[in-house]
This record gives sequence, structure tokens and C-alpha cells, in this order.
Amino acid sequence: MERVIVVGGGLAGVRAVEALRSKGYAGALTLVSAERHRPYDRPPLSKAVLAGDSDDTTVDADWDALRCELLLGVRATGLRLNEPGRGGVVASTAGDLPFDGLVIATGAAPVTLPGDGPQRVLRTIDDARALRPRLTEGARIVVVGAGWIGAEVATTAAAKGCAVTVVEAADAPLAGALGTEAGALTVPWYAEAGVALRTGVKVARVRDGGLELAGGERIDADEVVVGVGVRPELSWLEGSGLLLERGVVTDGSFRAHQNDAHQNDAHQNDAHQSDARRNDERPGTPRPDVVAVGDCAAWWSRRYGRRLLVEHWDTALNAPEVAAGTLLGEDAVYDAVPYFWSEQFGRMVQYAGLHTGSERVVRRGDPSGRKWALAWLTGDRLDAVLTVDRPRDLVQARRVIAAGTPVDPDALADPDVPVRQA
Ligand code: FAD
Repeated sequence: MERVIVVGGGLAGVRAVEALRSKGYAGALTLVSAERHRPYDRPPLSKAVLAGDSDDTTVDADWDALRCELLLGVRATGLRLNEPGRGGVVASTAGDLPFDGLVIATGAAPVTLPGDGPQRVLRTIDDARALRPRLTEGARIVVVGAGWIGAEVATTAAAKGCAVTVVEAADAPLAGALGTEAGALTVPWYAEAGVALRTGVKVARVRDGGLELAGGERIDADEVVVGVGVRPELSWLEGSGLLLERGVVTDGSFRAHQNDAHQNDAHQNDAHQSDARRNDERPGTPRPDVVAVGDCAAWWSRRYGRRLLVEHWDTALNAPEVAAGTLLGEDAVYDAVPYFWSEQFGRMVQYAGLHTGSERVVRRGDPSGRKWALAWLTGDRLDAVLTVDRPRDLVQARRVIAAGTPVDPDALADPDVPVRQA
């Protein structure tokens, strides 16, 4: 491999560059990013940057030492693939960029609401810098969506003395991620911070000066901030022959699947590809020369026997190591337990695992108090844990979940007993 292109200058892109070099890749390396900034970290944007405690979250990377050409402010607009294993060409606003190895790390972009009134999102450092001065004492800030980003924006805005209203379509905050019952445990945090929370409310459109709800009611606002989720950035891959579902479809080693219809029959029996196919029963064939990683990738999880699209920092940090290895011919599989954290209303909220399909939930401590946790179980298997200001529980539980060892559900319900194998 002599020319690798990484498309996307977020955390996953930077980590892919670092991993390629640390694994001994010596060829040409180019990182293409639509943003004009050097790659930076996003989690502080809704926390320290919005609060005014930090203004620069640039990732500490030595681009000269990495011998990586940075094409900033350059957008990939298309992808033409040769036969599997033979690379292709990224079409970009700076012209055609041929490659024999490609890392797709274009992340995700926020979903916006209908309507012609002004609305803000929070994805980039420019978004955060533009919103920050609007969070002044008494400003009426309406946040649409009580998910992770919405809750963090509400936290920061309320701390700055804004009059904050959060409007959520589901019946509880965080319902999409945690389920209604668990999400409802966070409702009192809003009132405590002086934030008005309205759940079960559908927004019809954003208008000048606020929102119009389904049914016609209006909510006036000086600023409308929309945090209703993100969509993977895939438009540049349309027509490339790669399989795109909610993200770029990959196997457990992050090889992007190519639609079989786009493929030369002679390559379908390639030994390398049939090995990779054992990871995943989905249609299409994994390409050895194209990997996708981070928020844009829908990767096959051997642990869960299903495809996951994990839009969290920990995956963008750690998965590129495997993706880079794959590109260089290593036989690695990413098998991590998903993890994320959120800082909201003065609390550190952490989650590890996957609880869809779990049989029951055990409470550790009293959710009306400051520190508590929930544990999702199937039989005596710990599926997932949500901790609120109990970081030790998170660390212990993450280990048990990863090992898949049984737990004692009664001991788990006692917050004074460490989370451990039965
Ligand atoms: P991104 O960071 O989205 O980077 C993708 C890059 O690719 C962008 O620079 C984009 O401009 C560029 N790009 C897109 N399309 C093209 C194209 N066609 N051509 C060239 N370049 C392109 N996670 C947590 O676990 N905990 C948190 O507390 C947390 N807080 C967050 C707070 C905010 C405000 C945000 C936005 C995210 C937060 N996250 C958090 C999520 C975490 O930051 C993301 O999972 C992570 O940034 C994903 O990294 P990525 O490299 O895959 O994608």
C-alpha cells in the first residue's frame, strides 16, 4: 500500500492517521477535511466551550512527525472504486485524489427541523462559538430535544442565567437512548436547575421568533437550539457501490461492504474476502482496501450479533486502531462494549453496554438522591449499566460486561457492594 487517504478530520480520522503510522505504514498519507480547523475534540463544545471556560479543543497531533498532508476546507464529493483491493479515486473540491487505501471517517451531521425561522445546531466549534455569546442573562433559549446534547446545552444555558425551555417529543428525556422509565429519572434535574421541560410535545416548525408546535401553539424564543439527533455524512458515497444503510455497512474489522452487483465475479471467491465474510451474514462483500470508522460506520458487532452505529467519542478514539490494522492486512476485530458519558445538571452520567432486549432493571441506590446507578440484566448476565456520579460502578461494571461473567442480582442491588462477578 503506497497511498492512503483519510476522509474526515474528526477524532476518528486523526486516530486513523496515528494508528497507520504507529503500525509502520510508510507510504503517502493525506487527511481531507471539510472543516477549515485542524482536527479538534467535540465533547467540550457543549460543556467547557459553551460555558466560556475553553476556546480551543484542537487534538494534540504532530502532523509533521506523522508525515500527513492536511487538506483542510476540502470536501469529498464522490468516490469511484476500482476492483476490490485495487483502490480508486476520491473526487473532491480540490480535484481527484487517487488512493490504494481509504479510510472513511466523515462522521455525522445534525438533523434540523422544518420551518424558515433561525435555528442553531451544535456540532462544530464554529457552532459553539456562535451560540456562546447568545447565552446571556434572561435570554429565552428554547432547546428542542432532551437527548444528550440538548440536556448539556440546557445545563450550560441555565447556569448562565438564561430562561431555558426544553421541548421533547418523547415522554421523557433520553428516552431514545435509555428508554422512558430510565430517562424519566432525570426529569427532576430540569426543575432543580430552573429549566422548563415539556415532554410529549411535537414541533411543527421553527418560525421567526420561536417555535410553532403541532396543534398551533407558539413558544417564543430569542434562540432555538435543535438537538434532535444526527445523520451519518454519506451523501458523497452515493453511487460508489458501497453498501449504505444508516451508516457505511462494514464487517467487524471495519471493511466497507461493496454491493455484489458492482463487483467483478472473479473477485467473489478471493480467499481474503471469504474470510472476512464469516464475520457477517449481510449481503455484499467486504473490501480489503476501504474501511469506515467512527460516527459514519455501521459495523458488525460479533459480541452482539448485530450491526451497531455508535455515535460516541470512545468508539471514535479506539476503533481506528483496528480499522488501520485492517487496511494494513492485520486480522483484527473490534469487539468493545459501547461506552459514553455526559455531563448534565452538575452530574457525571455514564453508560456502558447495550440494554435492548434485557429482561429487567436493578436499581443501585435511590434515583431521587445524588448518586445512583441502574443495571440491566438478562438472567444473571449484566447487559448494561447507567451510573450517576458513581464512576467506580461504571469501571467495575464495564469490566464485568466485557467479560460476560455472571453477577449476583441481589448483590448488584446493594450500592455498598462492588459490581463484580458472582
Ligand atoms: P466527526 O467528529 O463528526 O468528524 C467528521 C469530520 O468529517 C468533520 O470534521 C466533518 O466536517 C468532516 N466531513 C464530513 N463530510 C465530509 C466530506 N464529504 N469531505 C471531507 N470531510 C468531511 N460523545 C461522548 O461519548 N460523550 C460526550 O460527552 C460527547 N459530547 C459531545 C458533544 C457535542 C457537542 C458533539 C457534537 C458530540 C459529542 N459526542 C460525545 C460525540 C463525539 O464527539 C462523536 O462521537 C465523535 O466526534 C465522532 O467522531 P468522528 O471522527 O467519527 O466524526
